[in-house]
Amino acid sequence: MLDLPPHGAHIIASLDLYGGTWRLFHQVRAQSATLEVTHVGFSDQAALEAALRPETALIWAETPGNPLLSLTDLSQAAAFAHAHYLVAVADNTFASPAVQRPLEHGFDLVVHSDIKYICGHSDIIVGAVVVSERADLAQRLGFLQNATGTVLDPFQSFLARRGLLTLELRVARHAVNALTVARFLEGHPKIERVVYPGLESHPQHAIIAKQMNGGDGMRRQGA
Ligand SMILES: *Cc1c(COP(=O)(O)O)cnc(C)c1O
Repeated sequence: MLDLPPHGAHIIASLDLYGGTWRLFHQVRAQSATLEVTHVGFSDQAALEAALRPETALIWAETPGNPLLSLTDLSQAAAFAHAHYLVAVADNTFASPAVQRPLEHGFDLVVHSDIKYICGHSDIIVGAVVVSERADLAQRLGFLQNATGTVLDPFQSFLARRGLLTLELRVARHAVNALTVARFLEGHPKIERVVYPGLESHPQHAIIAKQMNGGDGMRRQGA
């Protein structure tokens, strides 16, 4: 995926970002590909504009972010990316495709770590890139996949597919459980603050209704 932008490219990425992605950007690709990354909160339009450079190749939005669960308004972020001819990439791992589908909000590429919700059994090491109708991106990624060897063996593919079959059911239960726990904690006298976008008290709660269908273990729409 990160072989897509050219050497020396610049990425605008979420501030609230999975540690492994942070490490890959700053401790691997910064050295091997002179990748530069600016982290911004995607709701801050002025910060997004200020981060733009001639070398900016793509935006990388992780929503909900891991670990702070901050949300990015997907259609707003996609509009920003396309206004500046940038490829829009979403890390959808924390939502799962059962509740959020960034391609439907204008994104070009979606990345998933399949080892979590999608697998559901903690017994695979699989990731996925989902491509929009942009044939140029699909072709280039297919070429890179073959050239660099990131190809799944049949058994891992089978296990990933097995997980997908129960994804929706599992995520629906996660959502109910998570909201129950969050409400309990929010009402508990010894708890100062609960950070959970599914709670009405969360400052980004309104984004859920725009793009998250039903909810998941990390957050949930409505009651
Ligand atoms: C866990 C996680 C990843 C990466 O997972 P691996 O499959 O272990 O590489 C990427 N993004 C997010 C948001 C994650 O939570």
